[in-house]
Amino acid sequence: MERRKLIIVGAGPAGLTAAIYAARAYLAPLVFEGFISGVAGGQLMTTTEVENFPGFPQGVAGPSLMEAMRKQAERFGAEILPEDVSSVDVTQRPFLVRGAQKKRSFMADSVIVATGAVAKRLDVPGARDGEFWQRGVTACAICDGALPLFRDRELYVIGGGDTAIEEAIFLTKYASKVYIVHRRDKLRASKIMSQQALKHPKIEILWNHVLKGVEGDAVVTGVNLENLAERKEVKRSAAGVFFAIGHSPNTKFLGGQVETDDQGYLVVEPGTTRTSVEGVFAAGDVQDKIYRQAVSAAGSGCMAALDAERFLTAQGI
Ligand code: NDP
Repeated sequence: MERRKLIIVGAGPAGLTAAIYAARAYLAPLVFEGFISGVAGGQLMTTTEVENFPGFPQGVAGPSLMEAMRKQAERFGAEILPEDVSSVDVTQRPFLVRGAQKKRSFMADSVIVATGAVAKRLDVPGARDGEFWQRGVTACAICDGALPLFRDRELYVIGGGDTAIEEAIFLTKYASKVYIVHRRDKLRASKIMSQQALKHPKIEILWNHVLKGVEGDAVVTGVNLENLAERKEVKRSAAGVFFAIGHSPNTKFLGGQVETDDQGYLVVEPGTTRTSVEGVFAAGDVQDKIYRQAVSAAGSGCMAALDAERFLTAQGI
C-alpha cells in the first residue's frame, strides 16, 4: 500500500492552502477532494462573488478563487484525488486512509482534516435547490448580504443563536429592515448579542414564528410564516431569506476517534491545529464555529501544514 508523509482531507481554502505550504516543504501531499458537502472545493464553489478575500479589489468568483488555489497547489507538486474519504484509522501510525469511491487506501504519517462544515437549511417549499436557493435564499449573510438584490429591502433571518443575531446586525447595513424569525420566545444567543439585536432600530424579532415557505418570481418576493402562538399563517413580502440555524461539521468519517466538542467540531489545542490525536491536524471550518471565513480557513490551513511539517521532522520523517 502506498505510504504518504501527509494526506489532506478536503480541498476548500483550508485544505488547498495546507497543500500549497506542504508541497513547497517537499512533503508531496495527497489531497482528497471530496464531495461530502455536495460539491468539490467547499462552500466557495456555491458562492457567486467573493468580495472580502484580500487581494481582489474587484471581487472574485468563488469557483475561480478555488481553481486558482488548486492550480497553485498542483504547481508545487500536490496531488489532488477527486474522492471522498470513507474512513480513517488513527489508532496506530502510520494512519490508514480509505477512499470511498475507488476504494483506494493509503498509509499516512500525518493527516490534516479540512473537511469544512455545511450550513443547515430548512427543507421548505421555495428554499430548495433549483427553487430560490441562491436566488434570494442563502445561508451566509457575510458572503451574500451586500448583493444588490438585498439593498434597501426587507430581509428575514431564520434562527435565534449568535449567528442569527450577528447576521441580522450585519444585514442592517444594507436592508431597510431585518426580521429575525425564531421558533421560541427566548433567544439562544448570548446576552450581549441579544441586547444588540433587541435595541437595534432596524431589527424586529418575530417570536414563536417558523418559516413554512418562500415565494417569488425570478427572485424571492415573499415568505410564508406560521405564528406558533396564535396558530396562524402569515404572508409577508421579503427580498431575502438567510438561514442561521447552525452548521454541521463534516467529521463523520473520523468515527469518533478524534475529540470533538458537543456540536461535533474538532477540538484543537488553542493557538495550534493539533487535535487530540498526535499527527492529526485540523484546519478550516471543521474546527472553527466562530469565524468561518475563507481567509481564516486559509490561514489555519497554513498553520496546519507548518504544524504537520514540524511533527514529521520531530519524527525523523
Ligand atoms: P446555534 O446552534 O447556537 O443556534 C441555532 C439557532 O437556530 C437556535 O436558535 C435554534 O433554535 C435555531 N434552529 C435550529 N434548528 C432549527 C429549525 N429546524 N427550525 C427553526 N430554528 C432552528 O447555532 P449558531 O450558528 O447560532 O452558533 C453556533 C455556535 O457558534 C454557538 O456556540 C455560538 O455561540 C457560536 N457563535 C459565536 C459567535 C460570536 O461569538 N461572535 C458568532 C456566531 C456563532 P432554538 O434556540 O429553539 O434551539
